[in-house]
Amino acid sequence: MLAPMMKTPLLISSLLEFGVVSHPDAEIVSRKVEDGSIHRTTQGEAAKRAKQLANALLNWGVKPGDRIATLAWNTWRHYEAYYATTGIGTVCHTINPRLFPEQLEYIFNHAEDRMVFVDLNLVPLLENLEGKLPHLQAIVVMTDSDNMPDSKLQNLICYEDFIAAHSTEFEWPRLDEDTDCSLCYTSGTTGNPKGVMYTHRSTVLHAIASLPQQALNISQDSVILPVVPMFHVNCWGIPYAVTITGAKLVFPGAAMDGKSLWELIVSEKPTLLAGVPTVWLGLLNYLDSINETMESVDSVVVGGSAAPLSMIKAFDEKHGAFLLHAWGMTEMSPIGTINAPNKQLNALPASERYEIQRKQGKPVFGVEMKIIDDDGNELPRDGKAYGRLMVRGPWIVNAYYKSDKVATEDGWFDTGDVANIDPDNYMQIVDRSKDVIKSGGEWISSIDLENVAVGHPAVAEACVIGIPHEKWQERPLLLVILKEGASATREDILEFLEPQLAKFWLPDDVVFRDELPHTATGKLLKVPMREEYASHYLK
Ligand code: AMP
Repeated sequence: MLAPMMKTPLLISSLLEFGVVSHPDAEIVSRKVEDGSIHRTTQGEAAKRAKQLANALLNWGVKPGDRIATLAWNTWRHYEAYYATTGIGTVCHTINPRLFPEQLEYIFNHAEDRMVFVDLNLVPLLENLEGKLPHLQAIVVMTDSDNMPDSKLQNLICYEDFIAAHSTEFEWPRLDEDTDCSLCYTSGTTGNPKGVMYTHRSTVLHAIASLPQQALNISQDSVILPVVPMFHVNCWGIPYAVTITGAKLVFPGAAMDGKSLWELIVSEKPTLLAGVPTVWLGLLNYLDSINETMESVDSVVVGGSAAPLSMIKAFDEKHGAFLLHAWGMTEMSPIGTINAPNKQLNALPASERYEIQRKQGKPVFGVEMKIIDDDGNELPRDGKAYGRLMVRGPWIVNAYYKSDKVATEDGWFDTGDVANIDPDNYMQIVDRSKDVIKSGGEWISSIDLENVAVGHPAVAEACVIGIPHEKWQERPLLLVILKEGASATREDILEFLEPQLAKFWLPDDVVFRDELPHTATGKLLKVPMREEYASHYLK
C-alpha cells in the first residue's frame, strides 16, 4: 500500500524558508570580527544574502557533495554560509581554528575541501599552510573590500564582492533528505581527528528536538547568546533551531572574554547563554571583579565538559540563572541529554536541586541510551551501577567519514563515556572510559575529583590522572593551576578535599603547575600528563 502521508524531505533550506515566511524580522546581532563593532541583521535579510551566496557558489563552479570549509567565528556571515552551502547540496565543513597546524592540514586534506570561508584574523593560519592543501582552490575572506588583508595567498576572494553581483532570488533544490550537509571532525585526545558527516534529515530532526522546554526551551521570545563556536558541532545546532521559532541570535564574533560577553549581555539582554565551562568561568570571574549581576539571563547551557558545583551555585545564587547541564558529542550532532528546570526540581531545597543539576540530564526525544558492562550486559538504571554509555538515534553517527561502520550490529554507538542512569532517567557521566582510575578493585572518577578540587577558592583549574602504583595498580594524582595571586599548599588542598571524598579517592599527591595541556575544544589532554608523571609514585 502507498504511504498515506506525504514524504516531504526534511531539508535545511526549509528551515531557512520557514523563518523567512514566519518571522523575517527576527534579529541576528553579531560582534564584527573586523573591529569589534556591532552588526545587526534579520533572518529575512540573511536569507536573501544566503541566496546571493548560493548563486555565487554555483557560478564559481561548486558541485553537489563538494566540501566547503569554514574557518570562522560566530557571525552573521558564517550563518549565511551555513545555509547557502547546505541548501545547494554541498557540505559545510566547519573547522576549528584552535587546532594545531598539522591537524588543520590533515583535516583539510582528508575532507578534500575545495574552498574555504575564513575570518580576517584567521587568514594567517592558511598562510602557514600554503602549498600544503592541494585540493583548495579558493579562499573567501569573510569581510568587505575595505578590510581585505594584504596577503600573498593565491585565489583570495572578498566575501562581499563574491556575493554582490548575484541575485537575492534562488530556488533551493529539493534534495533527498539523506544528502550529506555538514562535516565536523572530533578533536580526539588520541590519534587523528575523525570526521562525522551529518545529513539534512539528521540536522532538521536535531533542531526540532532541541526546542521543547525539557530541552533548550527555545521560543520566539528567547534571546540566545551562543558562545559555543559555530565550528564546534554546529554551535550545538542553535543556528538551525532559531529559524523554527524566530528567537533572536546574538553572535559574539571572535571576542569570548568575560568583558566582551558582559557588554553584549548588557546591550542585547539575552535570556539563554550556551557554552563550555571555561567560558563561563571567565564571565563569572569578570562579573565578580566588577561586582555586577546578570538581570536578563534565565538559563545558562553548559556542555562539553562537566560543570562544577561551584558554577551551578554561582549562577543560581549571584545571578538568578539556572545552569542547564547538557551532554553530547560530535558523534551525536551533538545533543544527547539536557538537565532542564521543571516544577519538581524548582520545588526542592537548593542543595538537593544542585545535586540533581550536577547530573548531565535526561535524553531528549530521539535519543535512546543504556549502560552496559564489559560483557555487553545491560546494567540497572538505579543511579548506582555504572558502565559504558551506549546511545542510538536518528542524529547519531553510524560510520565515521570515509571509514568503517562504528555502530554495533543492533545499532548502538559506544560513547566512550562511563555513566550511571537513575530511575528517573537522569544520566550522570562518571568519566571518560580512558580516564577512570582503577585503584585496587575500585573505580575513581577523575571528573568528580576535579570538580571537588576546583571548589577550593585558590584553585583555577584541576586535572586528575591515574598513574601506576605498585600496590594499588593506579592511584590518582591531582595537578593544579592556582588562581592569579592566590596561594595554597599541598596540605591545604588535601585538607579541603578530605571531608568531601571517600578516603580511597583522596589523591596521594598534589602537583602545582603553571599550565595544563588542552585539546582544541578546551578538554584536558590527559595522555601527555599520564606519560609525564608515569613514575611519580614508583620512585
Ligand atoms: P566533543 O565531541 O568534543 O563534543 O566531546 C564529547 C565528549 O565530551 C563526551 O563524550 C564527554 O566525554 C564530554 N562531555 C560533553 N558534555 C559533557 C558534560 N556535560 N559533562 C561531562 N562531559 C561531557
